[in-house]
Amino acid sequence: MFITSRPDIVFVRGQGSWLYDSEGREYLDFIQGWAVNSLGHCPKVIRDALANQAEIVINVSPAFYNEPMQRLANLLTDLSGLDRVFFANSGAEANEGAIKLARKWGSSKRGGASEIIVFEDAFHGRTLATMSASGKPQWKDLFEPKVGGFVRVRRNDIQAVREAIGPRTAAVMLEPIQGEAGVMPFTIEFLRELRDLTDETGVLLVLDEIQTGIGRTGRMFYFEHAGIRPDILTLGKGIGGGVPLAAVLAREAVSVFEAGDQGGTFNGNPLMTAVGYAVVKEISRPEFLANVEANGEYLAAQLRGLSEKFGLGEVRGHGLLLALDLGKPDGSRTVTAVQERGLLLNSPRPATLRFMPALNVTRAEIDKMLGIVGAALAI
Ligand code: PLP
Repeated sequence: MFITSRPDIVFVRGQGSWLYDSEGREYLDFIQGWAVNSLGHCPKVIRDALANQAEIVINVSPAFYNEPMQRLANLLTDLSGLDRVFFANSGAEANEGAIKLARKWGSSKRGGASEIIVFEDAFHGRTLATMSASGKPQWKDLFEPKVGGFVRVRRNDIQAVREAIGPRTAAVMLEPIQGEAGVMPFTIEFLRELRDLTDETGVLLVLDEIQTGIGRTGRMFYFEHAGIRPDILTLGKGIGGGVPLAAVLAREAVSVFEAGDQGGTFNGNPLMTAVGYAVVKEISRPEFLANVEANGEYLAAQLRGLSEKFGLGEVRGHGLLLALDLGKPDGSRTVTAVQERGLLLNSPRPATLRFMPALNVTRAEIDKMLGIVGAALAI
């Protein structure tokens, strides 16, 4: 079924930061499945976890506990400081679960409150509710009628949030860095003020860390940079390193689902959670995270250098989720030009290039990527 136009390339193999097509050409991959392959293509950690778990048990039923599910849940609650986990298969499904949980909590603990405050340019997924929560301008009139109950305000405008909170408000939901919007960060100051405001007014803070979580910004979770903790947290993308896995985490007092409210056939299946455990364990090593932070700083500095050299715009983001503003709508032209030179790059907005390599990308690979981008910008 047509869903998007794709280039005339068929990929047949991947290793680390590299992909190989059916014609034998190699590509340096700075998209990595849209910040999904956190350990690169086909890492040993994932191959081993898949092979070992496939020998033990692949699927039981979400009506029973299984061992890898418990192991990963314990690891995630230890790392995040939250208490409960629900596993899902995609980011949108995790956010859908977070929205349901916030509404359930509002209906039982806050006098029937059901509204969720969301932000302009937000991206929370492609189910009906998550598209309705998103603020992508192109989606404004798509798939009407939208799911109701979302109140939209401007990014980084704490006063607007304050004014929007009322008795019907259950939660405020945001991505701490809006990835699909072009790597647009909320300020640390805003995140701290928002935590204080939601505490003060008794509404939930829901962080969608599907793109920023699991080491992408040099910390396990972006909220650590602000020294805050959400009431509900969603994770996806990098948590499975390439396999379909996502999660909703919440504080004990917020975990109000009753039997039958939430579930799904594949949710928490041992094959995926065994991979998730191996991936999260590897990324949560302090040396691994320190390396992400250091390589992120290096990449950002080099991108600022490119920007100066070619008279481009700002460099945004944190760790290995970075964007370079081109200052003019040259994004897709640049993506095509670098692709012809063997580099896969993404342009989420017409004037923006986004960099989301494997978290274990090497300096040599970063330098090679910069060389190709520099050559493409020079023409
Ligand atoms: N939330 C954020 C912040 C995302 O970046 C994405 C995907 O890009 C999603 C949710 C949706 O995740 P998925 O595509 O796995 O449904």
